[in-house]
Amino acid sequence: MKNTILVTGGTGFIGSWVVKGLLEKGNTVRLTVRDKSKKEKYSFLQEIADKSEGTLELWEADLMKKGSFDAPAKGSDMIAHIASPFFLKIKDAQKDLVDPAVKGTENVLEAANKSGTVKKVVLTSSVASVHGDNIDMKNQNISIFTEEHFNTTSSLSHQPYSFSKVSAENKAWEINKKQNEWELVVMNPSFVMGPSLTTTSKSESLKVMTELLTGKYKSGAPDLKFGFVDVRDVAKAHILGLETEAKGRHILAESVAGILEMANVVKSTYEDTYKVPTSYVPRWLLMIVGPIAGFSRKFVRNNIGHDLKLDSSKSKEKLGLKYIPFEKTITDMVEQMKLQGIVK
Ligand code: NDP
Repeated sequence: MKNTILVTGGTGFIGSWVVKGLLEKGNTVRLTVRDKSKKEKYSFLQEIADKSEGTLELWEADLMKKGSFDAPAKGSDMIAHIASPFFLKIKDAQKDLVDPAVKGTENVLEAANKSGTVKKVVLTSSVASVHGDNIDMKNQNISIFTEEHFNTTSSLSHQPYSFSKVSAENKAWEINKKQNEWELVVMNPSFVMGPSLTTTSKSESLKVMTELLTGKYKSGAPDLKFGFVDVRDVAKAHILGLETEAKGRHILAESVAGILEMANVVKSTYEDTYKVPTSYVPRWLLMIVGPIAGFSRKFVRNNIGHDLKLDSSKSKEKLGLKYIPFEKTITDMVEQMKLQGIVK
């Protein structure tokens, strides 16, 4: 069935793939943008819409403007709430991360409440809402992180991005439980990689790959493990979340790896084209340079060299996801960056 779906964050790395998938299935997508005059942020989506069965509508709304999602929510059948700032270098954690994440979620869900038409909301949370530091697994005596777990160790001053994500997800469940008009389905992606449709996103995903290919880690990679998932699978999961009887939270992860494993894939495909690392930076060195490079000693202590296990079996069993392998994700991302002229 074709639906009218309000998408927040549709101009971003993940959101643009969600918008593309929904348009190709013939839906009407109500894309919210902060500023309609910034056409470079969404003109590529109009081009996709022109070639697809669906219809793209443009609405102006800002996470920080109360009531700004009310108009596009009215008449929508569903909402994919994807928008939230994803950058790690910030000046003011409350203002730059937590407020847009939490107040933004409140604004969008209040719009769902007022709409009288919205029946389902899919929220983009994160594995950062499942766990904080990698050491949490050991400290909390957990053998593998599942959808049962919530991050309890991040705060405004320690891992503020993760704090913004768990605070927003908690707020969403709280609002959802107070009504019975719309269902809430949550996606908890791990680190998202893969080809980007947008060239204007400031997502950490694109930043990390650009830094890897332009030599930032050439003298060594931190031994930091995180989950990886392809952006096309994350988009598919969101669309399945909207279309099917999906319930609750969903950890999205194909594998657990790190910068060095990314580098190994790059090296095996592109040989010496890019100056990628071949070994780890020692932990003691990170303890010294960390505070200068923008991460604390506590972050190093609690994350570097610690194991991480993520259980994504629910996404395979309930959503039927078949994940794109890590190697393909990485090489397709490099190819796209070459095409877009971001790297040589
Ligand atoms: P992007 O930065 O590419 O996308 C963020 C989107 O949010 C953009 O469309 C941006 O709009 C919008 N946005 C930000 N602030 C506001 C605001 N104040 N009002 C309205 N819209 C706003 O990041 P990603 O695509 O990587 O991330 C999207 C979501 O996925 C986020 O919720 C993030 O936390 C989550 N996530 C990302 C992961 C990853 O590895 N990339 C992993 C797990 C979760 P604009 O174009 O105007 O900037």
